Amino acid sequence: MQYQDILNTIQLELISKKHTGKVATYIPELAKIDPKKLGIHLYCINSGHYYFGDSNERFSIQSISKVFALTLAMSLYSDELFKRVDVEPSGDPFNSLIQLEYENGIPRNPFINAGALVISDMLISKLANPKKQFLEFIHKLTGEQSIGINPAVFNSEKAYSHRNAALLNLMKSFGNIKNDIQTVLDFYIYQCAIEMSCEELAKAFMIYANGGKKLSTNDQILNPQKIKRINAIMQTCGFYDEAGEFSFRVGLPGKSGVGGGITAIHPGQYAVTVWSPILNPKGNSELGMFALERLTTLTGYSIF
Ligand code: GLN
Repeated sequence: MQYQDILNTIQLELISKKHTGKVATYIPELAKIDPKKLGIHLYCINSGHYYFGDSNERFSIQSISKVFALTLAMSLYSDELFKRVDVEPSGDPFNSLIQLEYENGIPRNPFINAGALVISDMLISKLANPKKQFLEFIHKLTGEQSIGINPAVFNSEKAYSHRNAALLNLMKSFGNIKNDIQTVLDFYIYQCAIEMSCEELAKAFMIYANGGKKLSTNDQILNPQKIKRINAIMQTCGFYDEAGEFSFRVGLPGKSGVGGGITAIHPGQYAVTVWSPILNPKGNSELGMFALERLTTLTGYSIF
């Protein structure tokens, strides 16, 4: 079967699929999204791109931004980065505080909130204008200069960021946050409020499927060894306390966000993004996971 036929089959299955989840409400602005939004976009390394539904509409990328932040940080730091954030799955919810207390303020991995906040802190230490340079990095990966943040989502998360502030305070008490807490929180919330479409995310994620090279220009964005490591962290930690389930059902490295997006890659083959804002109890897109499970089942290929 061709990719477009497979996507058409998945689209039909999704229309009749029952679901039990709900859109995210803990960031009030995210609760306003139409739960029926649904789109998918798949970019292949050598045979074009395929899509359906709302695949060109921008949505809040939220925690998918953690992959871009880690990539930028790994381009600026050597292995010393991993002294401040570990690479182990947490098995706990994305915003959990619990492991920090007995692990001396070193987060389990860069894709839970605690770890992403440390990465934000590290970016702030190295970049003269972190917000601008972070956006420029995304513009470079996609070739889309118009990508920016949704100010309403940014303000909404800022007003309800007590838990992320708690994570920062706890880590600061262990000496693992170097900059001002409000500055780090502000930058982290900014990166989460970026809006991109499925198409733009799939295009940006091609570097992880293509050994660190941007497909359209062949620019080496990050070296293959570092890309291999980021893919490994996506595989083991991309879905918080559901990373095992995602590996079990889908079998690709990927990353989710509470905006309902999931981006996954098949090294050497493709990058794919699916968007459906209805989240399961672990904070991952319920229909998104189903769509990607069907993709690797119908193509007959996963990384396993
Ligand atoms: N900005 C969100 C938060 O920190 C991101 C969470 C997510 O997408 N899992 O709560």
